[in-house]
Amino acid sequence: MISKKMQDQVKNSSVIRAMFEEGKRLADIYGAENVFDFSLGNPNVEPPEDVKKAILEVVNDSNSTGIHGYMNNSGYEDVRAAIANSINNKFGTAFTPKNIIMTVGAAGGLNVILKTLLNPKDEVITFAPFFGEYRNYVKNYDGELVVVSPNTLDFQPNLEEFKEKITANTKAVIINSPNNPTGVIYSEETIIKLSNILRDKQKELGTDIYIIADEPYRELAYDNAEVPYLSKYYENTIIGYSYSKSLSLPGERIGYLVISDQAADYENIVAAANIANRILGFVNAPALFQRVIAKCLDAKVDLEVYNKNRELLYKGLLSFGYECIKPEGAFYMFVKTPIENDVEFCSLANKKNILIVPGSAFGCPGYVRIAYCVAYKTIEKALPGFKALIEELK
Ligand code: PLP
Repeated sequence: MISKKMQDQVKNSSVIRAMFEEGKRLADIYGAENVFDFSLGNPNVEPPEDVKKAILEVVNDSNSTGIHGYMNNSGYEDVRAAIANSINNKFGTAFTPKNIIMTVGAAGGLNVILKTLLNPKDEVITFAPFFGEYRNYVKNYDGELVVVSPNTLDFQPNLEEFKEKITANTKAVIINSPNNPTGVIYSEETIIKLSNILRDKQKELGTDIYIIADEPYRELAYDNAEVPYLSKYYENTIIGYSYSKSLSLPGERIGYLVISDQAADYENIVAAANIANRILGFVNAPALFQRVIAKCLDAKVDLEVYNKNRELLYKGLLSFGYECIKPEGAFYMFVKTPIENDVEFCSLANKKNILIVPGSAFGCPGYVRIAYCVAYKTIEKALPGFKALIEELK
C-alpha cells in the first residue's frame, strides 16, 4: 500500500499524465507529425556547439583523474568558483564558491532549499499562475503552499493580496521570473515593492522570510529585457538556477543554488543545504556536467528560434480573436480561453489534435498554457486548428 501522501500526489498528477497518454493515442491514430503537442516545456533548440565540444574535452582529458568520482556534496570547488565569478561579472555581486551549491537542476535545488528551511506547517507563498510542482515540493517537507491569486491584467504579482497573506508562519516566498506559464518578467518596480513589503513584515513579525528565486528561464528573455537579480534587492535571498532551458540540457539535471551571505543564518543554511543535497539522495550534482558547464558559462542557445515561434503564435492567435499578453521571456504563452472552462477548452483542442495545458494546473483557471518550444512548422500547421476552435465557439 503506498503512503497517504503519495496517494494524494498520484491523484493530483493525473491531469498531465492523462494528456501524455492522450498524445500517444492521437499519434498512433493520426501520425506524430499530425499531432500538435504544446504541452511540455522540453526545449526543441539544440544545445550550443560549445556544450558538445566541452563534453568531448572533459571525457578525453587524460589529465583529469577521477572525473566521475564523488566530491564535496556542494560540488567541485573550481566549478563553483567559476560560476561565482561569472555571476559577479554579470551582476556586480561578490559571491565566492561558498555561496554556490551545485544541484540536480532547478527541481533538485528547490527541494534542497525547502528541506533546509521548512518545519512542518511553515508557509511558503507563491503567486498564481505558478509551476504546479511547487505544491508537491513544499508538501515533501510538510509545509503549506499559500497561493496569491493572479493579477490577470498584466500577470505581475498581486502585491496587495500578498501583504495580507504574510503571517508569522511565512518562511519563504517563491518567485519565478521569467514566469512559467505566462512568460512575464517581474519588473524592477515589482521586485522593489515586494522586497519592501517583506522587510516591513519581517520587522513587524520579528521573523525572517526568504525569497527563493526560481530562475530556470533567466537567459530566455526577448528584446534584451532585463531580469532583475534578486540578491541585489533583498538580503534574505536564495536563487535557484538551472541549465535545463538556458543550454537545453533538461535530461542532464544540472543547476545550482546561490545562497546570499546577506541572508540571515547564512552559515547554517549553507551547511544544512550541503547535507540536504546528500540525504535527499542526490548526493551531488552530476560530475561530468559540472565540468561541462564550467567550460560553457558564456554559451547561449539560439534564442531567435523561440523568438520566431513567439511572433508567429502571438500574431496568429491575436488575429483569430484570442486574448493574451505577449511573453517577454521563457517559451510559454498564456492565453485566455474563449469559454470559461479551461479544461473543457483543452478537450476541444484535443479533438483538433492540439495538446495544451489548462490554466487550472497553474492555479489560474480560464486560461491555457501553450509551450511553443516546438518546431516552427508545428505552429504553422496548428494555427488553422486554433482558428477553427475559436470560430466554432463564437
Ligand atoms: N521551475 C520552473 C518554473 C520550471 O518551469 C521547471 C521546469 O520546467 C523547473 C523549475 C524544473 O527545472 P529543472 O529541469 O531544472 O529541474
